[in-house]
Amino acid sequence: MNKREKMINVTLITGDGIGPEIAEASRRCIDATGVEIKWELAEAGVDVMARTGTPLPQSTIDSVRKNGVALKSPITTPVGTGFRSINVFLRQELGLYACLRPCKSYKGVRSRYKDIDLVLVRENTEDLYAGIEFEKGKDETAELINWLNKHSKKQITSDSGISIKPISVSGTEKIVKFAFEYARANGRKKVTSVHKANIMKFTDGLWLEISRQIAKKYSDIEFEDRIVDNMCMQLVQKPELYDVLVLPNLYGDILSDLCAGLVGGLGVAPGANIGDKGAIFEATHGSAPKYAGQNKVNPCAVILSGVLMLRHLGKTAEADRLEKAVADVIAEGKYVTYDMKADRNDPTAVGTSQMADAIIKKIKNQK
Ligand code: NAD
Repeated sequence: MNKREKMINVTLITGDGIGPEIAEASRRCIDATGVEIKWELAEAGVDVMARTGTPLPQSTIDSVRKNGVALKSPITTPVGTGFRSINVFLRQELGLYACLRPCKSYKGVRSRYKDIDLVLVRENTEDLYAGIEFEKGKDETAELINWLNKHSKKQITSDSGISIKPISVSGTEKIVKFAFEYARANGRKKVTSVHKANIMKFTDGLWLEISRQIAKKYSDIEFEDRIVDNMCMQLVQKPELYDVLVLPNLYGDILSDLCAGLVGGLGVAPGANIGDKGAIFEATHGSAPKYAGQNKVNPCAVILSGVLMLRHLGKTAEADRLEKAVADVIAEGKYVTYDMKADRNDPTAVGTSQMADAIIKKIKNQK
């Protein structure tokens, strides 16, 4: 095999707002590990919309489908008007049912907590986020309300809007298995299934029942469940008791931010959306349009998403080198962006590109 054939094809979605700057910084850091990646650049977002009339060109979807792996920078979702979320579309279109959000303390990041090492596994396709909604006042909504009032003891008032919460056996089996497989592959000890089964017996109750069934097949990993409100309090009071959490879509969304807060915020919160046929790695944060083009923001969340991508590709040594370099630069606190300084106006803060340079230098100096 020649060198070109050995290379791994990865789609790089450069996004909009701060996206292109952090995509470039991340690509340079990943390449510095020596991994042989052939990057296929793909566009999405408001900039390409302005030029071509679509925020998500077919070529971008085709590229992710073909390569099966993408690193993605954030994309703006216009509020109220304009196109629907490209992020949600990509997850649904490509069947990326698992959202993986590791939350880990890095020395040097200002936070109320130390030594946090949690992994959230969020179901990405079902639940109240399935997008099945009925608007107040529409004929079909009235029809649905009439049907429900006929078949239920509880009555819905006619001026209601309705969002549907589907939770399936097959969807729950897939995500809970994913959480256990992740735990096993990454030396994790415990999976906690989060729910509100005491109130929603036929959706969250089903989730809990399936979680328990799947857990029986993984006797090497401890299993427990928590009611979501109690889980929030426990995470704030004693996060060290938890390891891998598996959650339905809505609770997963909310608790991801809670856990990002435990480790010092968005600058160090990476993520991945994974399905059977592909995976997209991306930061938790958005496109921060007010900072676009200023070489100002922190590239670490996308770089750490790159670490997850390298692990997914089986490039463990390269992933370890990159993560250590990021951790060292943050711990030193010298070549870091404004958000990592005690005073956000600290004039010694460096830009996106210079922080990437410092990370690359650390990689090169590793033994
Ligand atoms: P945001 O995460 O873009 O920014 C909120 C604030 O967080 C910023 O103003 C900035 O102060 C800070 N911040 C974010 N990223 C940072 C970084 N890398 N370094 C330093 N500081 C950083 O959230 P928002 O303003 O609510 O959303 C902006 C747009 O991004 C919206 O259109 C939203 O829909 C979109 N969004 C996209 C994704 C995605 O592509 N996956 C995720 C979330 C939000």
